This record gives sequence, C-alpha cells and structure tokens, in this order.
Amino acid sequence: MDPTRVLTRGVLGRLGGLRAGRLARARPLGARRGISLKSLFAPSPPGADAAGKPRLLVQAGDLFHPLSKSPVKEMRSKGQLIQQHGCCPTCVDETTAHSHGQAATREPVFECPACGYPTHCSEQHWAADRRHGELCGHLREANEDEHDLRSGRTLREFEFPSAQLPEVVVNLSSWDTFLYTRSFTNVGSDRAMRHVSKVLTYPVTIAATLHQYSPFTLGGGGLTGEGLKSLTALRTTIKEHELARSEKELEMQQKPLRVFVLGARAEAMLPPHLYLQLSYLLPHSPLHVYFVGPESIPTADETRSTIVVSSRLALKYHRGYFHDAIWSFAPFDPFTDVFFLFSPGLAHPRGRSGWQPTVDKLLETKCAVFGTGFHAQDMAADVAGLEEDFGPRMDWLLRPRPNPFASLKRDFGIRNLQEWAIANWGIYGFRGKRYEVV
Ligand SMILES: [Zn+2]
Ligand SMILES: [Zn+2]
Repeated sequence: MDPTRVLTRGVLGRLGGLRAGRLARARPLGARRGISLKSLFAPSPPGADAAGKPRLLVQAGDLFHPLSKSPVKEMRSKGQLIQQHGCCPTCVDETTAHSHGQAATREPVFECPACGYPTHCSEQHWAADRRHGELCGHLREANEDEHDLRSGRTLREFEFPSAQLPEVVVNLSSWDTFLYTRSFTNVGSDRAMRHVSKVLTYPVTIAATLHQYSPFTLGGGGLTGEGLKSLTALRTTIKEHELARSEKELEMQQKPLRVFVLGARAEAMLPPHLYLQLSYLLPHSPLHVYFVGPESIPTADETRSTIVVSSRLALKYHRGYFHDAIWSFAPFDPFTDVFFLFSPGLAHPRGRSGWQPTVDKLLETKCAVFGTGFHAQDMAADVAGLEEDFGPRMDWLLRPRPNPFASLKRDFGIRNLQEWAIANWGIYGFRGKRYEVV
C-alpha cells in the first residue's frame, strides 16, 4: 500500500488562505452564495507548549462559545460580520416594508444563549421568534464544529487512506459503509464524519455516480432507462481501462475519462490530492478532472493550468465560461466524458440567463450531466427551471433524489442565518435527447 496521504492543517492553511481570500473578492455582492471551506482552511495551530504538547485554543469538552466571547479570533470576527450584515428575522419584514424595499433592518446584536450566534435585534424579538427553535440546534452544532476545527488539535480524521486493497470491495450505499470499506480508520465520531464529509462530498459523489456499485440503480435508485444507457457507456470505458492494464499497447491508445465540473467554486479550491479519493475508486482509469468557471481559480495569475496529482489523475483548471471555451474541450464523447454541476443554481434569478448557453451546449454533447442542490427547494427550483427552458430537448437520467454522499454539515449565510445550505444535498441527471448506445 502507498504511504498514507496526509491532509495537514498547514497544507490546508497555505492553499486555502490564498484561494479562499481570492474567492471572496472575486464574487460580486448579491451573487448566489457557495459553500464556505474557510474553517477547514483555518490557520496553523497556535504551536506547542514547553512540554511539546500542542497548545489548544479550545478544549475538546468545551467547544461551545458565544461568538462574541469566543477564544478564537475568527469566530469573534464572524459574529461581528453577522451583526453588521445580518438581519433580525422578527422585524425584517416590518422594517423592509417601512423602507420601501430597502434592506434597512435592525442589526442582530442579541446573541441566542443556546446557539451563541447573534440572531435577533433584541431579547424580546428573540423570545417572540418561534421559528428559531427549528434552526437553533443546527446553529449550535455549527458553533461547536467550527470551534473544533480551529481548536488547534491535530485533525487526524483528515489523514486519508490510500489505494484500495484489490480484495476489499467498496460499498457505496452510505457514508458509513463507504468509510468502513475504504478503511477511514480515524473517523470515529459524528463530528469527524461531518468534517470529512464536507470535503469528500465532491469526489465521492462523482465516484458513486460512475462506479459499477453505484447506489443510483434502475427503478428504486432513481436511474431511468436512458440513465442506464449513459452510465453503461461510461462504465464500458472504465472496464476497458481495467482490461487494458496488462496490455501495454492498448494502454497507449486508451482515452482518459474526462470529468467536467462546471461553475466550479469550493470544489476547485480543495487541495488537489483530495481527488485521489475519486481516483482510488476507479483505480485503472486515467482521469482528467476539468474545473471550469469564472471562480475556478488555480493560482493568482493564470486563467488555466494543470496539476498532475498522480500517474492516473490530472486536474485542469479553466477560468471562464464553459460555453465560451467549448472549442478547446471538443470533441465530446458520451463514452468518456461526463459533466457535474455542483449546486449550480440553474434557476436562481441571477444565474438562470448565465447558465442557459452552457446547458444548451451540454445538451448538444449528448453526454451525461449530473447536478446537485443545496436542499429540497433549491433542487426542485433547478429541476423545474430545466424542464421549463429545455424540457423537450432533454432526457432524464437520474430522477431528483437525496444524495447519500451529501455533506453532513449545514452552512449558514452571514446575511441571513435562516438561510442554510448542505453541499450536494440532492442529485439529478439529464442529457440531450436522441442518443443511442452503439
Ligand atoms: Zn428585531
Ligand atoms: Zn439559538
């Protein structure tokens, strides 16, 4: 077995600090929000004490802190940001109506004692808000999770396993079976699972869709007859890669599997070696993963670049819209090419017209396209938008459904703590009509 790949905090800090910062500036105000990976990209731990033990900012048994009194600077800043840019849900409608639609709401300066977030403008408005109870538990969990990530402890759950032993079959029905059969030995608690799921949701959702033991099966698994045709085409190529392993000549001729991730944001910011977890699940296939989109920024100055992660895995970054650069990726082949749109917001008011030329081109390629959503309503809106704009031109491959490899974490918006998102909560698949497997 190869040496274990270690996702150290330092590596995350270097990669993430730079990229997350650029990301924040690159996104215009009011655009659809994405999933934040900032806490995973937290700065390096505060160092060691005289005895060589790591100096912890927060102790394991004492993870809950009201944001304003947090021992972690980033958490105090987060609280301040929410107070500056957030709104009180109890009086937001009232004040919005009074100011004729201007977003002039009273600042949420009152911290809920149970979750520690500044949620309302006053204790009275907090007490009057019955709906906060529904989210309070999730906010408290987020509070503790974020403190844990920034505590300075060694995050052993991010020490990931390397190549799969050939005699052990991966079970892709759930996070539990996946982590167990892939020997993630350091993920021993629900909290660790939440941390790990937030980054692994991207590579594992791709792998689980393409893999022969995919949970998305005909009928009960949501796969349609057309979906089976598309996945069979891709799996034929994967099988050929497997067979070609011992035949040098064939290996010379084989085409890589190309996975296009369009509108890439957080998923393009992950440390490249995380995508080895996708590669380990399709171990014989040469994989090229393309991150395409205005926010898929590999480095400060480049608009495109390639990172070769292993002999079988290359990540390619292209900053720009897919429909503008399509010529550089053509020709497309449904046997080797597949598209993923992670929480694209296809029907979001600010995104819809921007996505239309891309979806138009995607349907022409006749390749399989898989999309995900932040939650049930988000996905339903995207699916309805697709039907409305492209219905007669497309076939459904995978009926919209919850994704067993969704992130297990809820992300809350700074501007509105009532808005939350779960990365890859649900998944669906489609492609252009009239494609036949030969
Ligand atoms: Zn209020
Ligand atoms: Zn609360």
